[in-house]
Amino acid sequence: QKAEWEKLVAESTVTKDGRHVELAANIGNPNDVEGVLNNGGEGVGLYRTEFLYMGRDKLPTEDEQYDAYKTVLEKMGEKPVVIRTLDIGGDKELPYLDLPKEMNPFLGFRAIRLCLEQQDIFRTQLRALLRASVHGNLKIMFPMIATVDELRQAKAILQEEMDKLISEGVEVSGVIEVGMMVEIPSTAVMADRFAKEVDFFSIGTNDLIQYTLAADRMNEHVSYLYQPYNPAILRLVNMVIEAAHKEGKWAGMCGEMAGDETAIPLLLALGLDEFSMSATSILPARSQLLKLSQEELAGHKEKFLNLDTVDDVINYVKNFMS
Ligand code: PEP
Ligand code: MG
Repeated sequence: QKAEWEKLVAESTVTKDGRHVELAANIGNPNDVEGVLNNGGEGVGLYRTEFLYMGRDKLPTEDEQYDAYKTVLEKMGEKPVVIRTLDIGGDKELPYLDLPKEMNPFLGFRAIRLCLEQQDIFRTQLRALLRASVHGNLKIMFPMIATVDELRQAKAILQEEMDKLISEGVEVSGVIEVGMMVEIPSTAVMADRFAKEVDFFSIGTNDLIQYTLAADRMNEHVSYLYQPYNPAILRLVNMVIEAAHKEGKWAGMCGEMAGDETAIPLLLALGLDEFSMSATSILPARSQLLKLSQEELAGHKEKFLNLDTVDDVINYVKNFMS
């Protein structure tokens, strides 16, 4: 099987009925890029920038960040690179920020919430990203957006930093796509509105599942509720993809679910455009996708979206795949 996968490194991912989907990788630092390319990644679908901020005693400077982003963009060449702005808080702490202890960190002051309040941190990162943008195919993504207002604020700050750089004579790419994570149920429900104001969505199922089923993703006692195949999750994913396509935008997924063998046929049926996963999952996923027909699977969509339970969904997939 390994030999079969290795032959697929340089292939693009085209389904049996001729539909191209993009298989991208999740990375945490610039050294990960080599693994992405060796495994045939067609892009980076999620660069988790928080690792630049962790394991040290002060914030990374604009230049330090610029170097990291530039390295990733250059190594990836023309391939797309989605860089997510800082997603700290929740399970990831930064001791030097001295944030107050919270009762519910996953529902608290994290990610874009923190960035919109501590704008110096956010603006420094955006400047580093914009300066690096001329070195490759950059897409910027905001994490943990809950409301249209937050998205508009984040975009306005990005535009301000872009205008400042341009007036300082700094070169910035003119073709940077701006997107958001869909990982809070409110954004999936309102995806039709968000789709008018972003270039793309990336569905973060790791958080979307925990928030939809109200089950802490770190708590073993409620892990039985952490259900990727719950029809509620599939319906939300469907809403997001439909809303994106209605506006001519693309929808990806960068949660663990995107690389899951059972989920892949369901996600292809729903019309997902980009699957972002750990690099080592890319070739197995490609091998699987080459054998599937998007059109045929789409014919099952109404049926599996109307099932009741996780077991019903899993049995349904097993049946139509065999
Ligand atoms: C997600 O929530 O699915 C996601 C990709 O983000 P993270 O795992 O970094 O929270
Ligand atoms: Mg998340």
